[in-house]
Amino acid sequence: MELSSIHEYAVQALGSRSGCVRRGAAAGMAPSAHSCRPDRSRLRRTCPRPWVAGLVFILLLVLAAVASPASPKDAELGGERGEQLFARIDEMLAEMSKMTGLEMKRPIQRSIITREQIRDLVESRLKEQTTPEEIRAEELTLKMFGFVDEDFDLAKQYVDVLAEQATALYDYQAKQLYLATWTPEDLQEVALVHELAHALADQHFDLGKYLSKSRGADGDLARSAVIEGQASWIMVEYAMRQSGKSMVKSPLLAVTAASASRFEAGQYPAYASAPLYIRESLLFPYTAGLLFQQAVIEKHGAAGFTEVFRQPPVSSQQILHPDAYFGQRLPTKPRIPKVRLGRGYKTISQGQIGQWDHSILLKQFIGEEEARDLSPHWRGAYYKLRENKASSQAVLAYAVDWSSPERARRYFELYRKICEKKWRPSKVEQNPAGQVVGQSDKGNFVLTLNGRTVTSIEGLPNARLKTNAGGSKTSERQVANERTTD
Ligand SMILES: [Zn+2]
Repeated sequence: MELSSIHEYAVQALGSRSGCVRRGAAAGMAPSAHSCRPDRSRLRRTCPRPWVAGLVFILLLVLAAVASPASPKDAELGGERGEQLFARIDEMLAEMSKMTGLEMKRPIQRSIITREQIRDLVESRLKEQTTPEEIRAEELTLKMFGFVDEDFDLAKQYVDVLAEQATALYDYQAKQLYLATWTPEDLQEVALVHELAHALADQHFDLGKYLSKSRGADGDLARSAVIEGQASWIMVEYAMRQSGKSMVKSPLLAVTAASASRFEAGQYPAYASAPLYIRESLLFPYTAGLLFQQAVIEKHGAAGFTEVFRQPPVSSQQILHPDAYFGQRLPTKPRIPKVRLGRGYKTISQGQIGQWDHSILLKQFIGEEEARDLSPHWRGAYYKLRENKASSQAVLAYAVDWSSPERARRYFELYRKICEKKWRPSKVEQNPAGQVVGQSDKGNFVLTLNGRTVTSIEGLPNARLKTNAGGSKTSERQVANERTTD
């Protein structure tokens, strides 16, 4: 196979990731949130976490859509063709064992599934693993950060995109592998290899347990990138080896494969119409995850397939910058600003916001160059979202640490612009304490720069604006509160 063909193959395979399994979170919601795990009590306790990234995790799939120009109807995977493919599973597993050193322990349940059945499966897993309240909280979190419009319907978007994109999937709860009937012929074999890689990892590392052990949304995203990145790496390597190539011998091929997965998705209307955050959250585990797995293999050899499960990355920053993973750089925990609100407010969502989330925020509102330059200087961020059900007023409190006061000031300036675009304020001014205060009909915002930390309170009702951004004295109290409040 020519290199160009390999690239195309890799692109298609990555593009088809819609089918890949992600763990259970259904939706792509808020900043890197995946969520959902089988253990719902844990979910309720720690969630309100964004799931955009998490969406994918209800099932591990390979998204197919994106690359294939062929009409899906031209590629029906009938029973006979399916059986022929399944008959080659042992041969595929033997090749995968040569790469990874891991052997399949038990036979894998597999079957062919129609697009309608995929939709039913996604919907049923979503209902099993999330409540309408959790989905609504995630949706509102995404809206408050500005990632999606006010009329965005997270559950519907999630089901629509996955049903459209899934060419193959692995249900780690049922231990069942599926190939979609519509999977284009040139994707069928690699899609099967991708899902076999999930099954192989599941038998050795228990993917459901692995996904449930993360401590936050950004950690969820990192673990999803391990799972999808490893399956994508094995899939691409499998394809390359058929033509005598290898990412082990030629590391640049991994970069080419990952970058080649940026494809046009015009023929996939659900994907194409999804907000940037949703689209990128679907891609991240596959593309960034593949490069992360490549870096770990370059350092540890085949032991790298186990290492990423033995010592899980804890943040999207560690995925994007493997040196941060090898050096075990941990995210900081900035204090969320204390907000003085009246009665009736209840916390509906809280959690981490990672480097990846910030890169998307900057890309969406400011530009790709600033996102690329500034986001790596992220060091840690948390948010809390409260809502007054009676008035429907939602108030977001958020804090983010940067690598230096200079980077924090830059973000402070840019975040002011983001808030001006999000809130469309009628008035914005800087008070004597140096805070930026904006007033709009939908809600007011107060931005504070304190050393390497930027904080914001957004969505404040008019009556509460002065209380939360009074003057220098209030500001000092707020700083004190930030140091003492969880
Ligand atoms: Zn997958």
